[in-house]
Amino acid sequence: MEGALIARDRVGIQDFVLLDSHNSETAFLDNLKKRFTEDLIYTYVGILLISVNPCKELDIYTKKQMDLYMGVNFFELPPHIYALADNVYHTMLSEASNHFILISGESGAGKTEASKKILQYYAVSCPSSTLLDTVRDCMLMFNPGPAPIGSGPNDNSSRFGKYMDIQFDYAVGGHILSYLLEKSRVVHQNHGERNFHIFYQLVEGGEEDQLRHLGLEKDTQHYSYLVQGECSNVSSINDKNDWKTVKNALSVIDFDASDTEHLFGIIASVLHLGNVHFDGDTKGYAILNSNALLGIHVQVLHEALTFRKIEAKSEEVLSPFTVDLAICARDALAKAIYGRAFTWLVNRINESLENKDSERKTVIGLLDIYGFEVFSVNSFEQFCINYCNEKLQQLFIQFTLKSEQEEYEAEGIGVKKHRGIISVLNEECMRPGDATDLTFLEKLEEKMGNHPHFLTHKLADKKTRKSLERGDFRLLHYAGEVTYCIVGFIDKNNDLLYKNIKDVMRLSKNPIIQECFPATEGDSRRRPETVATQFKNSLLRLTEILTAKEAWYVRCLKSNDNKQSGKFDEVLVRHQVKYLGLMEHLRVRRAGFAYRRRYEVFLQRYKALCPATWPHWRGVPAEGVEKLVQHLGYKPDEYKMDRTKIFIRYARTLFATEDAFEICK
Ligand code: ADP
Ligand code: MG
Repeated sequence: MEGALIARDRVGIQDFVLLDSHNSETAFLDNLKKRFTEDLIYTYVGILLISVNPCKELDIYTKKQMDLYMGVNFFELPPHIYALADNVYHTMLSEASNHFILISGESGAGKTEASKKILQYYAVSCPSSTLLDTVRDCMLMFNPGPAPIGSGPNDNSSRFGKYMDIQFDYAVGGHILSYLLEKSRVVHQNHGERNFHIFYQLVEGGEEDQLRHLGLEKDTQHYSYLVQGECSNVSSINDKNDWKTVKNALSVIDFDASDTEHLFGIIASVLHLGNVHFDGDTKGYAILNSNALLGIHVQVLHEALTFRKIEAKSEEVLSPFTVDLAICARDALAKAIYGRAFTWLVNRINESLENKDSERKTVIGLLDIYGFEVFSVNSFEQFCINYCNEKLQQLFIQFTLKSEQEEYEAEGIGVKKHRGIISVLNEECMRPGDATDLTFLEKLEEKMGNHPHFLTHKLADKKTRKSLERGDFRLLHYAGEVTYCIVGFIDKNNDLLYKNIKDVMRLSKNPIIQECFPATEGDSRRRPETVATQFKNSLLRLTEILTAKEAWYVRCLKSNDNKQSGKFDEVLVRHQVKYLGLMEHLRVRRAGFAYRRRYEVFLQRYKALCPATWPHWRGVPAEGVEKLVQHLGYKPDEYKMDRTKIFIRYARTLFATEDAFEICK
């Protein structure tokens, strides 16, 4: 048999559950560092996989490695992403159950690489791999630019999460659920950030004819939405090649020439919108200077972007915008167009990936999501992503230990606190008149003031007050404290798009735009959902999807900020270990039963260790297992048995059994 059973790596401990100094963060980091230095980037916490970005190519993703891990029990070989992928796959097959793999970490930590490696593994071990490649290629379009070298953690990248189901059956299919598109990136990028890749790909890679047709210059510097981060060219990205990949992916999902033209027409229109300028007239009101967009007559668009229509009793009044307000309206439109077109595209991809032949499908979901974000200044976006992480952590606890969940809720750390904040924010956004970020903060103080995990400058005692600005509020998340700056909360949550702009979009000759701005929406008198509400709802849908599945986790860590190979920045890694909740995870794993085996599998593997089960156990598997563990001297608190599986609390118990097995081989 290839590979030693329960291979222990040369260095360090390959499963943190086995680490002696139980809850010491320092011991945790030492072990990670030791392993990282030896290019052992993977380490387990039970069945959770930690991956530390090596920032260099490693020779561990070969076909030979894949073959090695195929069908092997989880703890028999050194930790690997393939071991996880394989284990999920085989559990799915043997139990006919649904699973998901949650991959989280900071920007640049290796999430996308991890999901690629998983997809590659499945592409090799399962039939019909082209579809998987297509899914990946389609998603390529919507990834935002990575934080380039030396940009530091403050220049964070996207808050874009995606979830996709891989359906395994006679053929592989898929389903993508996107739930978190950071639309604000379309119109604004911080220093060192790029806009979404697709814009650069089109401008850099598009054929001359096509660009002329779309009225685009072959120069990314020409577009104001592309130059704000001052880093449109990132050396590691080849926009021209990626453009080909994207076009190819579109053809695989049945986009014909006119679909493609319409889609790129939309991408181009966003770039054009960004270059629309407004001059002030003599009274300071905005006048637009541009050509027709999306087949909408320039005069009509002009009116929509420079006036607001107010309906008063029986008449309509046009109220002119100042230049600043017109710019806001323009940016809101650009964001809406991109966001809606994205949703439309995801639906299209899903239709084409749907595995129609198959009746009974089991799936493995892949969820790629930002971990906790804590910067020196944290805003609405961080609040949303951290809220999401808090929710996912709750879910993890729920999956692992029901009783801890109750303890959690009793402490009030859970989602309730955030629900409180979101509802106060929404109320403030709905309030007609003079709501501002500061009035929102006052409302928070009024409603949340007594909560032990909520703090502001005003509420803090003298000593703590020094660390808080007047416009800050601080939350104690499960992973630690985060201070949020209130500026922009109201506007970002409102994300207003005036009704007359929506009405005008319906006049577009572009069929995709027509679908994205349906007439029914115009009829509705209801206020559109706020960003936080949309976010909360999609998280709720996601939670429903996840709750019906078995969970597996990959946590990606960034080894340093400069993409330097071999460098392990302890401060940076410690920060991530803290905010990814790894110590917390370890604690929960230790308390829970981390190792589970189906009775048949357990029996098959270890039957040689007990005279009663060797060479065959002919009775009910559960009884055979019971005989076996009694013979091995398992203590009652070390294991539990349910309907189909044995749960083993400590890895050492299982390891002892493995050792015994090895000796008697
Ligand atoms: P994220 O999706 O978390 O932002 P990526 O997956 O894009 O991060 O990783 C950023 C870069 O780090 C990749 O382009 C790659 O160069 C490197 N990288 C990440 N994971 C690995 C890995 N397992 N092996 C080698 N290089 C990696
Ligand atoms: Mg990524």
